Amino acid sequence: MHISNRWAFALAATLVAVSSALAGPFSPEQAPGRLPKNVIPVSYTIAIVPNLSALSLSGRESIVLNVREATGTIQLNSLNESFHDVRFDGKPVKRVLTNDKAQLTTIALESAAAVGSHTLSFSYSGKIEEQPQGLFVQSYLDPGGAMRTLLSTQMEETDARRMFPCWDEPAFRATFRLTATVPASWATVGNMPVAKRVVHGDLATTTFQDSPKMPSYLVEFTAGDLEQISATNGKTQLGIWAVRGLQKNGATALANAQTILADYNEYFAYPYPLPKLDSIAVPGGIQGAMENWGAITYNDQTLLVSSSSSIVNRQNVFSIQAHEMAHQWNGDLVTMAWWDDIWLNESFASWMAAKETDLRNPDWKWWEAQDADKEDAMSADARITSHPIQQHVTDELQAASAFDPQITYSKGQAILRMFEAFLGADAFRAGIRGYIKTFAFSNATTSDLWNALKSSSGEDVRAIAAGWTEQAGFPLVSIAASCDPKGARTITLSQKRFLLQGVDKDNPGWKIPLQIRSGSDSAPNALLLTRQDQTAQAGRCDEPLSANAGALGFYRTRYDAATLAINTKNFGRLKDSDRIALLDDQWALVESGVDPLPTYLALAAAMGSDLDTRAWIQIASALAIIEYAERGAAGHEAYAVFARSLLKPVFEQLGWNAKPEETPAVQTLRRNVIRALGTLGDPGVIDEARKRFAAFLSDHKSISPDNQGIVLYIVAQYADAAAFASLHAVARAAQDETQMRRYYSALMAVRDPILAQQAAQIALSAEIPPQADSLRLELLQGLAGRHQRLSWQMFIDNSERLLKPFATNAPLIVAQYVPEAYWNEIPLAEVEAWVRGHVPAEFGPNVDRGMEGARFRLAEKGMLVRDADAYLQR
Ligand SMILES: [Zn+2]
Repeated sequence: MHISNRWAFALAATLVAVSSALAGPFSPEQAPGRLPKNVIPVSYTIAIVPNLSALSLSGRESIVLNVREATGTIQLNSLNESFHDVRFDGKPVKRVLTNDKAQLTTIALESAAAVGSHTLSFSYSGKIEEQPQGLFVQSYLDPGGAMRTLLSTQMEETDARRMFPCWDEPAFRATFRLTATVPASWATVGNMPVAKRVVHGDLATTTFQDSPKMPSYLVEFTAGDLEQISATNGKTQLGIWAVRGLQKNGATALANAQTILADYNEYFAYPYPLPKLDSIAVPGGIQGAMENWGAITYNDQTLLVSSSSSIVNRQNVFSIQAHEMAHQWNGDLVTMAWWDDIWLNESFASWMAAKETDLRNPDWKWWEAQDADKEDAMSADARITSHPIQQHVTDELQAASAFDPQITYSKGQAILRMFEAFLGADAFRAGIRGYIKTFAFSNATTSDLWNALKSSSGEDVRAIAAGWTEQAGFPLVSIAASCDPKGARTITLSQKRFLLQGVDKDNPGWKIPLQIRSGSDSAPNALLLTRQDQTAQAGRCDEPLSANAGALGFYRTRYDAATLAINTKNFGRLKDSDRIALLDDQWALVESGVDPLPTYLALAAAMGSDLDTRAWIQIASALAIIEYAERGAAGHEAYAVFARSLLKPVFEQLGWNAKPEETPAVQTLRRNVIRALGTLGDPGVIDEARKRFAAFLSDHKSISPDNQGIVLYIVAQYADAAAFASLHAVARAAQDETQMRRYYSALMAVRDPILAQQAAQIALSAEIPPQADSLRLELLQGLAGRHQRLSWQMFIDNSERLLKPFATNAPLIVAQYVPEAYWNEIPLAEVEAWVRGHVPAEFGPNVDRGMEGARFRLAEKGMLVRDADAYLQR
């Protein structure tokens, strides 16, 4: 699954230490789960007839079972379903007991079933859902302005049981033959190609070919007024589906799919095993994408590219496709044995997607861009309430708990990158190939992956990796240099857990794969830090030193004062990646109160007019945190002048207009610097934005989609009633959802409190079509920056409606991210009381995490105001 933004993240529930069950290789009998392993599904034949007007479905199901031990009862998962005509080998059963609270149905047989093959069959009735869980109906405004509906599915983690009763745990792989009867005018898409289609009157019955053996959470079915564009790639038929009229916007995705499929066939050395791979653009539905085998579903905003799309939209499309397509191997072909190991799916797909996106789009500087995600993950993981990548999941109803985007996706991605650098890309790939080949059409555990990497690299990978996946947090590596009389440098390294606040009394340790570069150009040396006060030779004392060369590691470094001074002096000569690592670490050391603010500002000032995008985005973001802290304080104006002076040299070099030879990365830099200067009140930038907006009003083509966001954002911040009305009119006239999201988001930047009230009303109004329901929460979050009380009140008054589109993700949003959005003006006790009252009790640890983040921000605010004022008055 790919989760497209912070507000669309899945939940994270009960988190305790990793259970010993995780340690071993996969065996079907020992995979955790609630369902007994004495009866195993082999093949499902499922026929459904959805009734859209009644939001119900009737189904007929027949399951071939392998009974491994004689048994008088059979247990499977079901939810909101009633069973009729239940038969075992054609004969009626004794009793059927359904418990919706436990999501289980227990069937008592008339006599014990003997070991061997049997068939369970039944009819059932169930529900069509109105949010993305199981089979759901989605309303949308079509390109012609007509309101329509379609059907789609979202099964991960535990919602296949809402569409058909089944063994809904990932280790129960079986084949699925799905039949559905829907309006004959509709197209239907499933995991496999259509085997048979029969039209009878207004309806058509479609049967798909049997799927390979796979877990139930990968079953897919979409039906509606859809069209596709398609191509072949070797033996694979590639299709991009969208609602009629939008399929042409799938051309970019189709080309991307061609490239990615060829690359992955090569990387895994295991050709994509299904006859076809469809990608389906669903208007609304899930907020992100889902890797259903052979039929990936995307929120259409993450798959379609039109003339309204910006480079950011196109980057999202490529990287999310690369993520979901990586899952076709890691996740679908080889599935984690149990939800504890969901990181095997998500971290791997995230890492692979970044690698592929970087490979095929070198001028996006994608790994540098990914550094922002890594920093976000480190910021989350630097809390005492953080949790390990591998986490115990008691039963599958808590499976969603394992999808914590900052840890499961971003930290996991970063540590895989660190291991790849340490083991070498070829050995790493050989290990992955061995793992895929060994466990194809089966399940695997983390320990299976470590064993495969050990075979290919000769390293005891588990011994190194355990500290990174089985315990929370990451280390701060402190470096003290000493020089011999000839100037040769010896460094002494030590580690402790890095926390933004507080101390970890457990004092865990890590085996840290360091990459150490002395000087600015030489190749780095790999060094495994395994003990305190380990020493190493590291070039000469007058050279700069990078102990996280290439920014490849998931750790922070702190240099002694003399080494930091040399690094600062040579900052302009460092490789981009080394500079980024130094900026990231020094800012984190400032935020945690370890080092004073001037140590970071000295680095920022040393950037001069260098055009490295990620470095400047890092600086702009740190400057913005300080500016936010200074709002309302006496020193705000002086600080804004200072911050502008740091950014101005880059802006003066870049100007407003892109040059033909510029890379997308440089254009991204320009937009970020202009946006930051606009927020910092630069009069020239504000004037120019207003001029450009005036031209835009008469001709929308005068500003490219890439630049519309920043111009409108700056204009909205300083808008009076007339300018606000113009911005609102632009939003109302949006031609598609891509424009709509951009224009409405800009409206929320308004500073005037009266206009902010209007903006809040707009966010909740019927102007937003049903497929963009999830946007409402994002819009209110946009208001929260400057209008916390207003945003908070609107949020708590409308929380149920605002959270509904996020389905199972809603509790995590409330528990973990709401406190971080409202820490500045709402008393934390008020936030905490509301949040605890609106999430299930098992979300306690998530609330703790959110509140720790809120308390940190509040404490940091006071510290930054004090230190920035002192710096400016020096
Ligand atoms: Zn995923």
